[in-house]
Amino acid sequence: MCGIIGYIGKNNPKDILLNGLKKLEYRGYDSAGIALKNDNSVQVIKSVGKISALEEKLNREELISANMGIAHTRWATHGNVTLENAHPQVANKITLVHNGIIENTKELKEKFLPTYQFKSATDTEVIAALLDKFYEEEKDIFMALSKTLNNLKGSYALGILVSDINKLYAVRKNSPLIVGIGKNEYFIASDISAIINYTNKYMLLNDDEICELSYESVEVSKDGVIIDKEVKTSDLIDEDTTKGSYEHFMLKEIMEEDKVFEKTLDKYLNNMDLLLDLKNYNEIHIVACGSAMYAGMIGKSLLEEYADIKVSVECASEYRYKKIFYTDKTLVILISQSGETADTIAALRKANDASIDTLAIVNVKTSTIARLAKYKLFIEAGVEVAVATTKAYLLQVLLLVLLTIKTAKSKGLAVDVSEIKEIPKYLREIFTRKDEFRGIVKEIAHSEDIFFIGRQIDYAMSLEGSLKLKEVAYIHSEAYQAGELKHGTISLIEENMPVIAIVTDDDIKDKTLSNIIEVKSRGAKVILITNDNFLEKSDINIVVPKVNKLYQSMLVVPVLQLIAYYTAMMRGCEIDKPKNLAKSVTVE
Ligand code: GLU
Repeated sequence: MCGIIGYIGKNNPKDILLNGLKKLEYRGYDSAGIALKNDNSVQVIKSVGKISALEEKLNREELISANMGIAHTRWATHGNVTLENAHPQVANKITLVHNGIIENTKELKEKFLPTYQFKSATDTEVIAALLDKFYEEEKDIFMALSKTLNNLKGSYALGILVSDINKLYAVRKNSPLIVGIGKNEYFIASDISAIINYTNKYMLLNDDEICELSYESVEVSKDGVIIDKEVKTSDLIDEDTTKGSYEHFMLKEIMEEDKVFEKTLDKYLNNMDLLLDLKNYNEIHIVACGSAMYAGMIGKSLLEEYADIKVSVECASEYRYKKIFYTDKTLVILISQSGETADTIAALRKANDASIDTLAIVNVKTSTIARLAKYKLFIEAGVEVAVATTKAYLLQVLLLVLLTIKTAKSKGLAVDVSEIKEIPKYLREIFTRKDEFRGIVKEIAHSEDIFFIGRQIDYAMSLEGSLKLKEVAYIHSEAYQAGELKHGTISLIEENMPVIAIVTDDDIKDKTLSNIIEVKSRGAKVILITNDNFLEKSDINIVVPKVNKLYQSMLVVPVLQLIAYYTAMMRGCEIDKPKNLAKSVTVE
Protein backbone atom coordinates (compact mmCIF):
# COMPACT_ATOMS: atom_id res chain seq x y z
CA MET A 1 0.00 0.00 0.00
CA CYS A 2 1.66 3.19 -1.19
CA GLY A 3 5.33 3.42 -2.02
CA ILE A 4 7.87 6.13 -1.33
CA ILE A 5 11.32 6.56 -2.78
CA GLY A 6 13.63 9.54 -2.53
CA TYR A 7 17.13 10.24 -3.84
CA ILE A 8 19.92 12.76 -3.39
CA GLY A 9 23.32 12.39 -5.05
CA LYS A 10 25.50 12.56 -8.09
CA ASN A 11 23.25 10.67 -10.47
CA ASN A 12 20.13 11.63 -12.35
CA PRO A 13 17.29 11.06 -9.90
CA LYS A 14 14.60 10.50 -12.51
CA ASP A 15 15.58 6.96 -13.52
CA ILE A 16 16.43 5.92 -9.98
CA LEU A 17 13.07 7.14 -8.73
CA LEU A 18 11.15 5.55 -11.57
CA ASN A 19 12.92 2.20 -11.11
CA GLY A 20 12.22 2.40 -7.40
CA LEU A 21 8.53 3.04 -8.00
CA LYS A 22 8.39 0.01 -10.28
CA LYS A 23 9.91 -2.14 -7.53
CA LEU A 24 7.29 -0.84 -5.11
CA GLU A 25 4.45 -1.35 -7.59
CA TYR A 26 3.52 -4.67 -5.96
CA ARG A 27 2.31 -2.83 -2.86
CA GLY A 28 -0.75 -1.60 -4.73
CA TYR A 29 -1.54 1.95 -5.86
CA ASP A 30 -3.89 4.04 -7.93
CA SER A 31 -1.78 7.03 -8.99
CA ALA A 32 1.85 8.06 -9.01
CA GLY A 33 4.01 11.16 -9.00
CA ILE A 34 7.51 12.49 -8.84
CA ALA A 35 9.20 15.75 -7.80
CA LEU A 36 12.66 16.76 -9.03
CA LYS A 37 14.69 19.53 -7.45
CA ASN A 38 17.82 21.53 -8.19
CA ASP A 39 19.21 24.68 -6.60
CA ASN A 40 16.61 26.88 -8.24
CA SER A 41 13.40 25.00 -8.72
CA VAL A 42 11.16 22.07 -7.96
CA GLN A 43 9.27 20.30 -10.74
CA VAL A 44 6.29 18.06 -9.99
CA ILE A 45 4.82 15.55 -12.44
CA LYS A 46 1.91 13.30 -11.55
CA SER A 47 -0.46 10.92 -13.24
CA VAL A 48 -3.46 8.78 -12.42
CA GLY A 49 -3.21 5.06 -13.02
CA LYS A 50 -0.17 2.99 -13.85
CA ILE A 51 3.46 3.99 -13.44
CA SER A 52 3.83 3.51 -17.19
CA ALA A 53 1.51 6.53 -17.60
CA LEU A 54 3.82 8.58 -15.38
CA GLU A 55 6.80 7.35 -17.34
CA GLU A 56 5.23 8.42 -20.62
CA LYS A 57 4.49 11.84 -19.16
CA LEU A 58 8.07 12.18 -17.92
CA ASN A 59 9.35 11.29 -21.37
CA ARG A 60 7.15 13.93 -22.98
CA GLU A 61 7.97 16.79 -20.58
CA GLU A 62 11.08 18.89 -20.55
CA LEU A 63 12.65 18.00 -17.21
CA ILE A 64 14.89 20.21 -15.11
CA SER A 65 18.37 18.84 -14.48
CA ALA A 66 18.13 17.74 -10.89
CA ASN A 67 20.18 16.12 -8.17
CA MET A 68 17.48 15.12 -5.78
CA GLY A 69 13.88 14.03 -5.90
CA ILE A 70 11.01 12.19 -4.27
CA ALA A 71 8.43 9.87 -5.79
CA HIS A 72 5.26 8.15 -4.66
CA THR A 73 2.63 5.61 -5.54
CA ARG A 74 -0.63 6.51 -3.84
CA TRP A 75 -3.31 4.24 -2.45
CA ALA A 76 -6.03 6.78 -1.79
CA THR A 77 -7.41 7.07 1.70
CA HIS A 78 -8.50 10.73 1.73
CA GLY A 79 -9.99 12.02 -1.48
CA ASN A 80 -10.72 10.35 -4.80
CA VAL A 81 -8.17 9.05 -7.23
CA THR A 82 -7.46 12.28 -9.11
CA LEU A 83 -4.46 14.19 -10.36
CA GLU A 84 -4.92 16.88 -7.70
CA ASN A 85 -4.93 14.27 -4.94
CA ALA A 86 -1.91 12.35 -6.24
CA HIS A 87 1.39 13.04 -4.50
CA PRO A 88 3.73 14.93 -4.26
CA GLN A 89 1.58 17.56 -2.58
CA VAL A 90 2.85 21.11 -2.68
CA ALA A 91 2.34 24.05 -0.33
CA ASN A 92 4.49 27.02 -1.27
CA LYS A 93 8.07 26.04 -0.27
CA ILE A 94 7.20 22.51 0.77
CA THR A 95 6.81 19.52 -1.57
CA LEU A 96 6.16 16.18 0.06
CA VAL A 97 5.03 12.58 -0.36
CA HIS A 98 3.17 10.74 2.37
CA ASN A 99 2.20 7.22 3.28
CA GLY A 100 -0.37 6.91 6.03
CA ILE A 101 -3.41 8.69 7.40
CA ILE A 102 -3.66 11.92 9.38
CA GLU A 103 -6.61 11.71 11.72
CA ASN A 104 -6.93 15.30 12.97
CA THR A 105 -6.96 17.27 9.72
CA LYS A 106 -10.21 19.02 10.60
CA GLU A 107 -8.78 20.43 13.84
CA LEU A 108 -5.49 21.33 12.17
CA LYS A 109 -7.25 23.22 9.38
CA GLU A 110 -9.43 25.14 11.84
CA LYS A 111 -6.64 25.95 14.25
CA PHE A 112 -3.71 26.73 11.98
CA LEU A 113 -4.90 27.05 8.41
CA PRO A 114 -8.30 28.79 8.45
CA THR A 115 -7.65 30.77 5.28
CA TYR A 116 -5.46 28.34 3.38
CA GLN A 117 -6.85 27.43 -0.05
CA PHE A 118 -6.56 23.67 -0.37
CA LYS A 119 -6.12 22.33 -3.87
CA SER A 120 -6.63 18.67 -2.99
CA ALA A 121 -8.88 16.63 -0.71
CA THR A 122 -5.93 14.85 0.88
CA ASP A 123 -4.80 14.77 4.48
CA THR A 124 -1.31 15.04 3.00
CA GLU A 125 -1.77 18.60 1.78
CA VAL A 126 -2.59 19.58 5.36
CA ILE A 127 0.86 18.36 6.44
CA ALA A 128 2.50 20.31 3.62
CA ALA A 129 0.58 23.50 4.43
CA LEU A 130 1.27 23.18 8.15
CA LEU A 131 4.97 22.61 7.63
CA ASP A 132 5.16 25.53 5.23
CA LYS A 133 3.40 27.80 7.74
CA PHE A 134 5.71 26.79 10.59
CA TYR A 135 8.77 27.12 8.34
CA GLU A 136 7.64 30.62 7.41
CA GLU A 137 7.27 31.48 11.10
CA GLU A 138 10.32 29.73 12.54
CA LYS A 139 12.73 30.17 9.60
CA ASP A 140 14.29 26.91 10.74
CA ILE A 141 13.31 23.63 9.13
CA PHE A 142 14.03 21.49 12.19
CA MET A 143 11.89 23.70 14.43
CA ALA A 144 9.18 23.67 11.79
CA LEU A 145 9.33 19.89 11.40
CA SER A 146 9.21 19.27 15.15
CA LYS A 147 6.28 21.61 15.53
CA THR A 148 4.47 19.92 12.65
CA LEU A 149 5.07 16.41 13.95
CA ASN A 150 3.92 17.41 17.44
CA ASN A 151 0.60 18.45 15.99
CA LEU A 152 -0.07 15.43 13.75
CA LYS A 153 -2.24 12.56 14.92
CA GLY A 154 -2.13 9.38 12.88
CA SER A 155 0.45 7.60 10.81
CA TYR A 156 2.96 8.94 8.35
CA ALA A 157 6.10 8.28 6.38
CA LEU A 158 7.17 11.50 4.70
CA GLY A 159 9.73 12.42 2.08
CA ILE A 160 10.13 16.19 2.01
CA LEU A 161 11.75 18.75 -0.29
CA VAL A 162 12.11 22.37 0.80
CA SER A 163 12.53 24.76 -2.13
CA ASP A 164 15.25 26.92 -0.54
CA ILE A 165 17.27 24.10 1.06
CA ASN A 166 19.40 21.70 -0.96
CA LYS A 167 18.63 18.74 1.22
CA LEU A 168 16.08 16.00 1.52
CA TYR A 169 14.16 15.26 4.74
CA ALA A 170 12.49 12.11 5.96
CA VAL A 171 10.41 11.27 9.03
CA ARG A 172 8.08 8.47 9.94
CA LYS A 173 5.59 7.31 12.52
CA ASN A 174 3.78 3.98 12.29
CA SER A 175 4.43 3.81 8.55
CA PRO A 176 7.45 2.20 6.93
CA LEU A 177 10.46 4.18 5.69
CA ILE A 178 14.14 3.28 5.57
CA VAL A 179 17.22 5.33 4.68
CA GLY A 180 19.65 3.86 2.11
CA ILE A 181 23.35 4.68 2.27
CA GLY A 182 25.24 4.63 -1.04
CA LYS A 183 28.58 6.15 -2.07
CA ASN A 184 27.94 9.88 -2.09
CA GLU A 185 24.32 9.18 -2.73
CA TYR A 186 21.49 8.55 -0.32
CA PHE A 187 17.99 7.19 -0.54
CA ILE A 188 14.76 6.92 1.34
CA ALA A 189 12.35 4.09 0.55
CA SER A 190 9.29 2.27 1.82
CA ASP A 191 11.30 -0.93 1.65
CA ILE A 192 14.77 -2.07 0.69
CA SER A 193 13.65 -3.74 -2.55
CA ALA A 194 13.22 -0.25 -4.09
CA ILE A 195 16.92 0.59 -3.69
CA ILE A 196 18.70 -2.77 -3.52
CA ASN A 197 19.99 -2.22 -7.08
CA TYR A 198 22.02 0.72 -5.76
CA THR A 199 22.92 -0.19 -2.18
CA ASN A 200 22.40 -2.87 0.45
CA LYS A 201 23.31 -0.54 3.35
CA TYR A 202 20.46 1.01 5.23
CA MET A 203 19.37 2.61 8.48
CA LEU A 204 16.06 2.24 10.26
CA LEU A 205 14.29 5.34 11.51
CA ASN A 206 12.39 5.39 14.76
CA ASP A 207 9.18 7.33 15.24
CA ASP A 208 9.64 11.08 14.84
CA GLU A 209 13.37 11.03 14.31
CA ILE A 210 14.24 13.64 11.68
CA CYS A 211 16.55 12.47 8.94
CA GLU A 212 18.40 15.08 6.90
CA LEU A 213 20.04 13.80 3.72
CA SER A 214 22.58 15.97 1.94
CA TYR A 215 25.08 15.26 -0.87
CA GLU A 216 27.80 14.34 1.62
CA SER A 217 26.04 12.73 4.55
CA VAL A 218 22.96 11.64 6.42
CA GLU A 219 22.17 12.96 9.85
CA VAL A 220 19.42 11.71 12.14
CA SER A 221 18.26 13.72 15.12
CA LYS A 222 15.47 13.98 17.62
CA ASP A 223 14.68 17.12 19.59
CA GLY A 224 17.92 18.66 18.33
CA VAL A 225 20.10 15.79 19.56
CA ILE A 226 22.04 13.88 16.90
CA ILE A 227 21.48 10.13 17.07
CA ASP A 228 24.18 7.63 16.25
CA LYS A 229 22.47 5.18 13.92
CA GLU A 230 23.54 1.65 13.15
CA VAL A 231 24.10 1.01 9.44
CA LYS A 232 22.73 -2.42 8.59
CA THR A 233 23.41 -4.64 5.59
CA SER A 234 20.56 -6.27 3.75
CA ASP A 235 20.97 -9.79 2.38
CA LEU A 236 18.18 -9.27 -0.12
CA ILE A 237 19.31 -10.04 -3.62
CA ASP A 238 17.84 -8.13 -6.47
CA GLU A 239 15.53 -10.88 -7.49
CA ASP A 240 13.94 -11.37 -10.76
CA THR A 241 10.70 -9.54 -10.18
CA THR A 242 9.51 -10.09 -13.72
CA LYS A 243 6.89 -12.64 -14.61
CA GLY A 244 9.24 -14.67 -16.79
CA SER A 245 7.25 -17.05 -18.93
CA TYR A 246 4.21 -16.82 -16.66
CA GLU A 247 1.19 -14.78 -17.51
CA HIS A 248 0.75 -13.66 -13.91
CA PHE A 249 2.85 -13.26 -10.79
CA MET A 250 0.28 -15.24 -8.86
CA LEU A 251 0.90 -18.38 -10.90
CA LYS A 252 4.66 -17.81 -10.87
CA GLU A 253 4.61 -17.49 -7.10
CA ILE A 254 2.51 -20.64 -6.63
CA MET A 255 5.01 -22.49 -8.83
CA GLU A 256 7.85 -21.27 -6.60
CA GLU A 257 6.32 -22.84 -3.51
CA ASP A 258 8.41 -26.01 -3.60
CA LYS A 259 11.66 -24.00 -3.82
CA VAL A 260 10.88 -21.48 -1.08
CA PHE A 261 9.62 -24.31 1.09
CA GLU A 262 12.97 -26.08 0.70
CA LYS A 263 14.86 -22.87 1.44
CA THR A 264 12.91 -22.10 4.59
CA LEU A 265 12.97 -25.71 5.75
CA ASP A 266 16.73 -25.94 5.22
CA LYS A 267 17.29 -22.87 7.32
CA TYR A 268 15.31 -24.12 10.32
CA LEU A 269 15.53 -27.90 10.15
CA ASN A 270 19.32 -27.73 10.23
CA ASN A 271 19.18 -25.31 13.11
CA MET A 272 16.15 -25.91 15.27
CA ASP A 273 17.69 -23.57 17.88
CA LEU A 274 16.55 -20.68 15.72
CA LEU A 275 12.97 -21.59 16.59
CA LEU A 276 11.33 -20.49 19.81
CA ASP A 277 10.42 -23.29 22.21
CA LEU A 278 6.83 -22.56 23.29
CA LYS A 279 6.76 -25.00 26.17
CA ASN A 280 6.90 -22.32 28.84
CA TYR A 281 3.77 -20.58 27.62
CA ASN A 282 0.34 -21.72 28.72
CA GLU A 283 -1.58 -19.85 26.06
CA ILE A 284 -0.88 -18.31 22.71
CA HIS A 285 -2.71 -15.55 20.89
CA ILE A 286 -2.11 -15.62 17.16
CA VAL A 287 -2.96 -12.19 15.79
CA ALA A 288 -2.96 -11.37 12.09
CA CYS A 289 -5.09 -10.24 9.16
CA GLY A 290 -6.47 -12.01 6.09
CA SER A 291 -4.56 -15.04 4.86
CA ALA A 292 -1.99 -14.68 7.64
CA MET A 293 -4.82 -15.11 10.13
CA TYR A 294 -5.97 -18.22 8.28
CA ALA A 295 -2.43 -19.58 8.40
CA GLY A 296 -2.77 -18.94 12.12
CA MET A 297 -5.93 -21.08 12.18
CA ILE A 298 -3.91 -24.01 10.82
CA GLY A 299 -1.28 -23.27 13.46
CA LYS A 300 -3.92 -23.32 16.17
CA SER A 301 -5.13 -26.78 15.16
CA LEU A 302 -1.62 -28.17 15.10
CA LEU A 303 -0.25 -26.48 18.22
CA GLU A 304 -3.26 -27.56 20.24
CA GLU A 305 -3.25 -31.13 18.99
CA TYR A 306 0.47 -31.87 18.90
CA ALA A 307 2.09 -29.39 21.28
CA ASP A 308 -0.75 -29.32 23.79
CA ILE A 309 -1.02 -25.53 24.08
CA LYS A 310 -4.19 -23.49 24.17
CA VAL A 311 -4.26 -21.15 21.18
CA SER A 312 -6.68 -18.44 20.13
CA VAL A 313 -6.63 -16.73 16.74
CA GLU A 314 -7.90 -13.19 16.31
CA CYS A 315 -7.95 -10.62 13.58
CA ALA A 316 -5.69 -7.74 14.49
CA SER A 317 -8.23 -5.03 13.72
CA GLU A 318 -10.44 -6.40 16.52
CA TYR A 319 -7.70 -7.45 18.91
CA ARG A 320 -6.21 -3.98 19.04
CA TYR A 321 -9.41 -2.47 20.46
CA LYS A 322 -10.78 -5.16 22.74
CA LYS A 323 -10.10 -6.14 26.30
CA ILE A 324 -7.48 -8.86 26.34
CA PHE A 325 -6.89 -11.22 29.23
CA TYR A 326 -3.19 -11.95 29.42
CA THR A 327 -1.55 -14.36 31.84
CA ASP A 328 2.10 -14.13 32.80
CA LYS A 329 2.65 -17.04 30.42
CA THR A 330 0.93 -15.66 27.34
CA LEU A 331 2.78 -15.42 24.05
CA VAL A 332 1.42 -13.27 21.24
CA ILE A 333 2.38 -14.45 17.75
CA LEU A 334 2.03 -11.82 15.03
CA ILE A 335 1.99 -12.98 11.41
CA SER A 336 2.42 -10.59 8.48
CA GLN A 337 4.08 -11.03 5.09
CA SER A 338 5.19 -7.42 4.82
CA GLY A 339 5.67 -6.83 8.53
CA GLU A 340 3.99 -3.47 7.99
CA THR A 341 0.32 -4.38 8.41
CA ALA A 342 -0.97 -1.43 10.43
CA ASP A 343 -3.52 -3.37 12.48
CA THR A 344 -1.00 -6.09 13.30
CA ILE A 345 1.56 -3.48 14.37
CA ALA A 346 -1.05 -1.99 16.72
CA ALA A 347 -1.76 -5.43 18.20
CA LEU A 348 1.97 -5.97 18.68
CA ARG A 349 2.34 -2.63 20.45
CA LYS A 350 -0.57 -3.55 22.70
CA ALA A 351 1.15 -6.78 23.76
CA ASN A 352 4.48 -4.98 24.16
CA ASP A 353 2.84 -2.32 26.33
CA ALA A 354 1.47 -5.09 28.56
CA SER A 355 5.01 -6.57 28.76
CA ILE A 356 3.83 -9.78 27.09
CA ASP A 357 6.29 -11.82 25.02
CA THR A 358 5.82 -11.37 21.30
CA LEU A 359 6.96 -13.48 18.36
CA ALA A 360 6.79 -12.17 14.81
CA ILE A 361 6.58 -14.38 11.72
CA VAL A 362 7.35 -12.11 8.77
CA ASN A 363 8.89 -12.11 5.32
CA VAL A 364 10.41 -8.63 5.22
CA LYS A 365 13.39 -8.45 7.56
CA THR A 366 13.57 -4.65 7.74
CA SER A 367 9.93 -4.32 8.68
CA THR A 368 8.41 -2.60 11.70
CA ILE A 369 6.94 -5.82 13.08
CA ALA A 370 10.32 -7.56 12.87
CA ARG A 371 11.82 -4.63 14.70
CA LEU A 372 9.26 -4.32 17.48
CA ALA A 373 8.73 -7.99 18.36
CA LYS A 374 10.80 -9.63 21.08
CA TYR A 375 11.37 -12.77 19.02
CA LYS A 376 11.27 -12.99 15.24
CA LEU A 377 11.25 -15.74 12.66
CA PHE A 378 11.64 -15.01 8.98
CA ILE A 379 10.12 -16.98 6.16
CA GLU A 380 12.26 -17.11 3.04
CA ALA A 381 9.59 -16.34 0.45
CA GLY A 382 11.61 -13.76 -1.48
CA VAL A 383 9.63 -10.90 -2.93
CA GLU A 384 5.95 -11.70 -3.32
CA VAL A 385 4.45 -9.43 -5.96
CA ALA A 386 0.89 -10.65 -6.53
CA VAL A 387 -1.44 -8.93 -4.10
CA ALA A 388 -3.10 -12.23 -3.17
CA THR A 389 -0.56 -14.14 -1.10
CA THR A 390 0.32 -17.71 -2.01
CA LYS A 391 3.91 -18.72 -1.29
CA ALA A 392 4.17 -16.50 1.80
CA TYR A 393 0.99 -18.07 3.24
CA LEU A 394 2.44 -21.54 2.71
CA LEU A 395 5.65 -20.61 4.53
CA GLN A 396 3.75 -19.02 7.41
CA VAL A 397 2.05 -22.39 7.84
CA LEU A 398 5.43 -24.12 7.59
CA LEU A 399 6.86 -22.01 10.41
CA LEU A 400 3.86 -22.79 12.61
CA VAL A 401 4.41 -26.47 11.82
CA LEU A 402 8.08 -26.15 12.80
CA LEU A 403 7.16 -24.40 16.05
CA THR A 404 4.72 -27.23 16.75
CA ILE A 405 7.42 -29.84 16.13
CA LYS A 406 9.99 -28.03 18.25
CA THR A 407 7.61 -27.58 21.16
CA ALA A 408 6.13 -31.08 20.99
CA LYS A 409 9.62 -32.58 21.04
CA SER A 410 10.69 -30.40 23.90
CA LYS A 411 7.62 -31.54 25.86
CA GLY A 412 8.37 -35.16 25.03
CA LEU A 413 5.22 -35.52 22.94
CA ALA A 414 5.02 -37.76 19.89
CA VAL A 415 5.48 -36.00 16.59
CA ASP A 416 6.33 -37.48 13.22
CA VAL A 417 8.83 -35.44 11.23
CA SER A 418 9.68 -38.10 8.69
CA GLU A 419 7.54 -36.66 5.88
CA ILE A 420 8.36 -32.98 6.08
CA LYS A 421 11.18 -33.17 3.55
CA GLU A 422 8.89 -34.91 1.06
CA ILE A 423 6.48 -31.98 0.80
CA PRO A 424 8.32 -30.16 -2.04
CA LYS A 425 8.29 -33.35 -4.10
CA TYR A 426 4.53 -33.71 -3.58
CA LEU A 427 4.04 -30.05 -4.43
CA ARG A 428 5.84 -30.60 -7.72
CA GLU A 429 3.55 -33.53 -8.41
CA ILE A 430 0.51 -31.35 -7.76
CA PHE A 431 1.86 -28.67 -10.08
CA THR A 432 1.98 -31.16 -12.95
CA ARG A 433 -1.81 -31.48 -12.64
CA LYS A 434 -2.64 -27.92 -13.67
CA ASP A 435 -4.79 -29.08 -16.58
CA GLU A 436 -6.95 -31.12 -14.26
CA PHE A 437 -7.64 -28.06 -12.08
CA ARG A 438 -8.19 -25.86 -15.11
CA GLY A 439 -10.84 -28.32 -16.28
CA ILE A 440 -12.57 -28.40 -12.91
CA VAL A 441 -12.93 -24.65 -12.58
CA LYS A 442 -15.33 -24.67 -15.54
CA GLU A 443 -17.81 -26.02 -13.00
CA ILE A 444 -17.56 -22.97 -10.77
CA ALA A 445 -16.42 -20.08 -12.93
CA HIS A 446 -19.95 -18.92 -13.74
CA SER A 447 -21.34 -19.27 -10.23
CA GLU A 448 -22.05 -16.24 -8.13
CA ASP A 449 -22.02 -18.08 -4.79
CA ILE A 450 -19.87 -20.94 -3.62
CA PHE A 451 -19.58 -22.68 -0.28
CA PHE A 452 -16.48 -24.27 1.16
CA ILE A 453 -17.03 -26.78 3.92
CA GLY A 454 -14.73 -28.67 6.25
CA ARG A 455 -14.24 -29.45 9.91
CA GLN A 456 -11.37 -28.59 12.23
CA ILE A 457 -8.15 -28.18 10.27
CA ASP A 458 -10.05 -28.81 7.03
CA TYR A 459 -12.20 -25.80 7.92
CA ALA A 460 -9.08 -23.68 8.41
CA MET A 461 -8.00 -24.63 4.86
CA SER A 462 -11.49 -23.81 3.59
CA LEU A 463 -11.19 -20.28 4.95
CA GLU A 464 -8.10 -19.63 2.87
CA GLY A 465 -9.61 -21.27 -0.23
CA SER A 466 -12.69 -19.10 0.06
CA LEU A 467 -10.69 -15.91 0.62
CA LYS A 468 -8.51 -16.57 -2.44
CA LEU A 469 -11.58 -17.00 -4.62
CA LYS A 470 -13.09 -13.77 -3.34
CA GLU A 471 -9.84 -11.86 -3.76
CA VAL A 472 -8.91 -12.82 -7.29
CA ALA A 473 -12.04 -14.24 -8.94
CA TYR A 474 -14.59 -11.86 -7.35
CA ILE A 475 -16.94 -14.72 -6.53
CA HIS A 476 -18.90 -14.52 -3.33
CA SER A 477 -17.95 -17.53 -1.29
CA GLU A 478 -18.25 -18.60 2.28
CA ALA A 479 -16.28 -21.08 4.29
CA TYR A 480 -18.41 -22.95 6.77
CA GLN A 481 -17.76 -25.47 9.47
CA ALA A 482 -19.40 -28.46 7.81
CA GLY A 483 -21.46 -29.37 10.85
CA GLU A 484 -22.74 -25.82 11.33
CA LEU A 485 -24.31 -25.52 7.89
CA LYS A 486 -27.57 -27.15 8.89
CA HIS A 487 -28.09 -24.59 11.65
CA GLY A 488 -29.24 -21.99 9.18
CA THR A 489 -27.06 -21.53 6.14
CA ILE A 490 -28.12 -24.72 4.40
CA SER A 491 -31.24 -22.79 3.36
CA LEU A 492 -29.05 -21.10 0.76
CA ILE A 493 -28.04 -24.33 -0.96
CA GLU A 494 -29.70 -24.53 -4.35
CA GLU A 495 -29.70 -26.80 -7.36
CA ASN A 496 -26.21 -26.89 -8.90
CA MET A 497 -24.61 -24.60 -6.34
CA PRO A 498 -20.94 -25.55 -6.05
CA VAL A 499 -19.79 -26.73 -2.63
CA ILE A 500 -16.08 -27.36 -2.26
CA ALA A 501 -15.64 -29.88 0.53
CA ILE A 502 -12.29 -30.53 2.15
CA VAL A 503 -11.92 -33.90 3.81
CA THR A 504 -8.45 -34.87 4.95
CA ASP A 505 -8.68 -35.28 8.70
CA ASP A 506 -9.25 -38.97 9.45
CA ASP A 507 -10.61 -38.18 12.90
CA ILE A 508 -13.73 -36.47 11.57
CA LYS A 509 -13.85 -37.68 7.99
CA ASP A 510 -17.12 -39.59 8.37
CA LYS A 511 -18.82 -36.58 9.92
CA THR A 512 -17.96 -34.32 7.00
CA LEU A 513 -19.04 -37.01 4.57
CA SER A 514 -22.50 -36.93 6.15
CA ASN A 515 -22.57 -33.17 5.62
CA ILE A 516 -21.64 -33.69 1.98
CA ILE A 517 -24.63 -35.99 1.58
CA GLU A 518 -26.83 -33.33 3.21
CA VAL A 519 -25.88 -30.67 0.67
CA LYS A 520 -25.99 -33.09 -2.25
CA SER A 521 -29.54 -34.04 -1.29
CA ARG A 522 -30.40 -30.38 -1.72
CA GLY A 523 -28.94 -30.18 -5.19
CA ALA A 524 -25.40 -28.98 -4.50
CA LYS A 525 -22.63 -29.89 -6.91
CA VAL A 526 -19.83 -31.10 -4.67
CA ILE A 527 -16.15 -30.80 -5.50
CA LEU A 528 -14.33 -32.92 -2.97
CA ILE A 529 -10.71 -32.29 -2.11
CA THR A 530 -9.39 -35.21 -0.16
CA ASN A 531 -6.35 -37.32 0.58
CA ASP A 532 -8.40 -40.51 0.53
CA ASN A 533 -8.52 -42.40 -2.74
CA PHE A 534 -11.53 -44.38 -1.69
CA LEU A 535 -14.09 -41.68 -1.12
CA GLU A 536 -16.81 -41.66 -3.73
CA LYS A 537 -19.29 -39.29 -2.29
CA SER A 538 -18.98 -36.37 -4.65
CA ASP A 539 -19.44 -35.20 -8.21
CA ILE A 540 -15.80 -34.29 -8.73
CA ASN A 541 -12.87 -35.58 -6.71
CA ILE A 542 -9.46 -33.99 -6.36
CA VAL A 543 -7.15 -36.37 -4.57
CA VAL A 544 -3.94 -35.00 -3.08
CA PRO A 545 -1.14 -37.13 -1.63
CA LYS A 546 -1.89 -38.29 1.89
CA VAL A 547 0.61 -37.14 4.48
CA ASN A 548 0.68 -36.68 8.23
CA LYS A 549 -1.94 -34.17 9.43
CA LEU A 550 0.89 -31.82 10.41
CA TYR A 551 1.73 -31.27 6.74
CA GLN A 552 -1.51 -31.99 4.93
CA SER A 553 -2.72 -28.39 4.60
CA MET A 554 0.43 -27.54 2.67
CA LEU A 555 -0.70 -29.92 -0.07
CA VAL A 556 -4.33 -28.84 -0.07
CA VAL A 557 -4.06 -25.05 -0.02
CA PRO A 558 -1.87 -24.90 -3.17
CA VAL A 559 -4.70 -26.71 -4.98
CA LEU A 560 -7.16 -24.12 -3.66
CA GLN A 561 -4.81 -21.37 -4.81
CA LEU A 562 -4.69 -22.86 -8.30
CA ILE A 563 -8.48 -23.21 -8.38
CA ALA A 564 -8.83 -19.53 -7.47
CA TYR A 565 -6.22 -18.59 -10.06
CA TYR A 566 -7.77 -20.51 -12.95
CA THR A 567 -11.26 -19.38 -12.01
CA ALA A 568 -10.08 -15.78 -12.09
CA MET A 569 -8.46 -16.43 -15.48
CA MET A 570 -11.69 -17.84 -16.84
CA ARG A 571 -13.62 -14.83 -15.54
CA GLY A 572 -11.11 -12.42 -17.05
CA CYS A 573 -10.19 -10.80 -13.73
CA GLU A 574 -7.17 -8.63 -13.13
CA ILE A 575 -5.39 -11.31 -11.14
CA ASP A 576 -2.22 -9.76 -9.75
CA LYS A 577 -3.83 -6.52 -8.66
CA PRO A 578 -7.43 -7.20 -7.75
CA LYS A 579 -9.64 -4.15 -7.50
CA ASN A 580 -9.64 -2.26 -4.19
CA LEU A 581 -6.88 -4.39 -2.68
CA ALA A 582 -3.33 -3.48 -1.71
CA LYS A 583 -0.43 -5.77 -0.94
CA SER A 584 0.66 -4.46 2.41
CA VAL A 585 -2.11 -2.75 4.28
CA THR A 586 -0.14 -0.02 5.99
CA VAL A 587 -3.18 2.02 6.99
CA GLU A 588 -5.83 1.16 9.50
N1 GLU B 1 -3.63 9.55 3.09
C1 GLU B 1 -2.90 9.92 1.93
C2 GLU B 1 -3.80 10.11 0.72
O1 GLU B 1 -4.93 9.68 0.69
C3 GLU B 1 -1.78 8.93 1.62
C4 GLU B 1 -2.28 7.61 1.16
C5 GLU B 1 -1.15 6.64 0.86
O2 GLU B 1 -0.57 6.11 1.84
O3 GLU B 1 -0.89 6.39 -0.31
O4 GLU B 1 -3.39 10.73 -0.21
